[in-house]
Amino acid sequence: ERKAALSASTGPGATSDGHKVPLLANVGGPADVPAAVEAGAEGVGLFRTEFLFLDDSKTAPSEEKQVEAYRQVLEAFPEGRVVVRVLDAGADKPLDFLTPADEPNPALGVRGLRTLLDHPDVLRTQLTALAKASDGLPVYLEVMAPMVADRTDAKAFADACREAGLRAKFGAMVEIPSAALRARSILQEVEFLSLGTNDLAQYTFAADRQVGAVSRLQDPWQPALLDLVALSAEATKAEGKSCGVCGEAASDPLLACVLTGLGVTSLSMGAASIPYVRATLAKYTLAQCERAASAARAADTAEEARIAAQAVLSGE
Ligand code: PEP
Ligand code: MG
Repeated sequence: ERKAALSASTGPGATSDGHKVPLLANVGGPADVPAAVEAGAEGVGLFRTEFLFLDDSKTAPSEEKQVEAYRQVLEAFPEGRVVVRVLDAGADKPLDFLTPADEPNPALGVRGLRTLLDHPDVLRTQLTALAKASDGLPVYLEVMAPMVADRTDAKAFADACREAGLRAKFGAMVEIPSAALRARSILQEVEFLSLGTNDLAQYTFAADRQVGAVSRLQDPWQPALLDLVALSAEATKAEGKSCGVCGEAASDPLLACVLTGLGVTSLSMGAASIPYVRATLAKYTLAQCERAASAARAADTAEEARIAAQAVLSGE
């Protein structure tokens, strides 16, 4: 029965009353594209470009090598969206030639966009490669920066994109609580937000994502995390822009309904989760998702939030 429900689950992501929520895939490179296409992804919501840099950890890959890899992903979604994240080095993704070796707290140090702003040549090469890779393709390219803390970061990234002649939408990932708290200010510089809930949970709860002993605090059902999602989504709506989720939270079908109810406009996840999320979302109206979201936010713990959302959606 489950299989039948899943095979019936095709087409664009939407609630039962037709509120569209594009379901996009997280990919780590061209090798992940066939599974994304097979799952019916409407595009790519997070293209993690680190893989290119991990191949050879002594230097950045050449512009030509990058153009080739980006083009392979862009060509797979001729009508769709592809959201590329520029290099996210440091902390859990260290790179020898870029990441400072002597930081006491690498997760709080020079990582993500901070690394790129310290190495403008690396950022410039990547943006130029993206401009060349997308040239002449009908794809709807979006480029975003990881670890944006404030408007100054967002402006620095948008300026770098413009200087590289990139014709794309520029966005900011919301992975630091300050970015969620001041989302409206960040949106003065960029056209979309994408919530990286893995890092957002890490920084909200001061709980290292690599330390299993604090994994309770990494639970994306934590009501405090849902509050930050809601703040980001409300700010984006007020600015008439879009707010996706590309962290692990989006791959939990029940939580995907709650995120939709909070006002998130697209969900990006590992390809294998897409059919499950599509099938679950299709069972509920937007109003039901909104009620589930309110119930989850009213809870005190992650476990209670999950139970409260489930109760609303199953009509209890
Ligand atoms: C996140 O932090 O939620 C995210 C999507 O980025 P990564 O897991 O690659 O840090
Ligand atoms: Mg992250």
